[in-house]
Amino acid sequence: MSFETLKLHPLILKAIVDSGYSTPTPIQKQAIPELLAGHDIMASAQTGTGKTAAFMLPALHRLATASKVHSRGPRILVLTPTRELALQVSDAATKYGKYLHRIKVVSILGGMPYPLQNKLLSQPVDILVATPGRLIDHIQRGRINFSRLEMLVLDEADRMLDMGFIEDVEKIALAIPTTHQTLMFSATLDSAIAKVATRLLKSPKRIQIAKQQAKLDNIEQRLHYVDDLSHKNRLLDHLLRDIKLKQAIVFTATKRDADTLADNLSAQGHEALALHGDMNQRDRTRTITKLRHGSLRVLVATDVAARGINVVGITHVINFDLPKFAEDYVHRIGRTGRAGASGIAVSFASGKDGVNLQKIERFTGHRIVSHVVPGLEPRYKPRSRPGNTPRATPSIVRKRSRSWSNDSNKRSSFSNVNGNWNNNRDHSFSNDKMGNSFKNVRNK
Ligand code: AMP
Repeated sequence: MSFETLKLHPLILKAIVDSGYSTPTPIQKQAIPELLAGHDIMASAQTGTGKTAAFMLPALHRLATASKVHSRGPRILVLTPTRELALQVSDAATKYGKYLHRIKVVSILGGMPYPLQNKLLSQPVDILVATPGRLIDHIQRGRINFSRLEMLVLDEADRMLDMGFIEDVEKIALAIPTTHQTLMFSATLDSAIAKVATRLLKSPKRIQIAKQQAKLDNIEQRLHYVDDLSHKNRLLDHLLRDIKLKQAIVFTATKRDADTLADNLSAQGHEALALHGDMNQRDRTRTITKLRHGSLRVLVATDVAARGINVVGITHVINFDLPKFAEDYVHRIGRTGRAGASGIAVSFASGKDGVNLQKIERFTGHRIVSHVVPGLEPRYKPRSRPGNTPRATPSIVRKRSRSWSNDSNKRSSFSNVNGNWNNNRDHSFSNDKMGNSFKNVRNK
């Protein structure tokens, strides 16, 4: 099937050609005809499947015809759980709508100044992409006229539910006219999501896309057993010095750990920055732009912050801490292997992570093969993983890092850091201990 057979507006097809897409992805093949026919849909599809275009192309197709209602309010409203995802959706709208006549896309996100948003909302808007909390503020102040709204998209609805935004989403749905088409995209379609769908969608068509296993096929998943924080840090440093690693996202359990680890990696000579929800929007946008432009090699992030990141250059995802929820594992590793590329996802696991690891493997239906780096072998030997003899990671090609070869200051600061952790004989992995070890290094 080609994009032409989907009967999208010719100016949208022209933008698709510019994007280099030759065939629609499975979610696009299934969703676009239903949406053009005017149906509500409830689709289980993850990021990386092409779901943004699956809703944005039919949305733009609507915009190619003038609205019959005379108003300046949005014709399309997209709600996303995170600011990053919202910006990504806005970028997609601009990219696919670039040949249509003056499509105005506005993002209304938390953490951004109100006066600018008030100004944007006082002008005509075609596509409004928003995070729920901030949008409610503007609705309550009467700043948005929804009289010509034609389509409501709930992107990553499961995540909005997890993050406690679903009440806000339902409030928004109540505040807008009921004549619009509603689309719900979610990585999982469990009973909680089904309940929300029953309240918000009208006889939706259900679309279920590729199981997780299929989607992760282009990502090599590796496991490294770790003994303690010092071991984790030495392994991480080793992996980051591989020249085949072009860009990486390293995931930590907490915002504080993301900051601390990014600081420590910088001290070791890696180009690293943190990304998490406590940062202001300007800093977050600046960091993501650097990543997108390839001028940032290592991003240290928390789950929520990294959720919408779609950067083709990410070759590696490293789970410095395993995620709490198996579903987050899939989201995390999906940051690599974008747009048909292959990727490597490395997870560090200690003896205490056994149950978590099992949950992840059950969820993905894939046993993660354990690897060892010669010279950095763990003392810990798991007993309950039959047939899983650790593989030696092929000897890593080291990046010639300026900090190692030329800059003696940085080199010595790294040795200090390492020495300090090596001397830390407490191998407990409790957050507290970890925080303390981090603090020691930070205070150096
Ligand atoms: P998404 O699932 O919306 O996050 O999209 C994942 C990636 O797939 C993005 O980089 C898109 O640019 C890309 N993409 C979307 N549709 C297609 C397509 N039909 N062919 C190739 N790449 C696509």
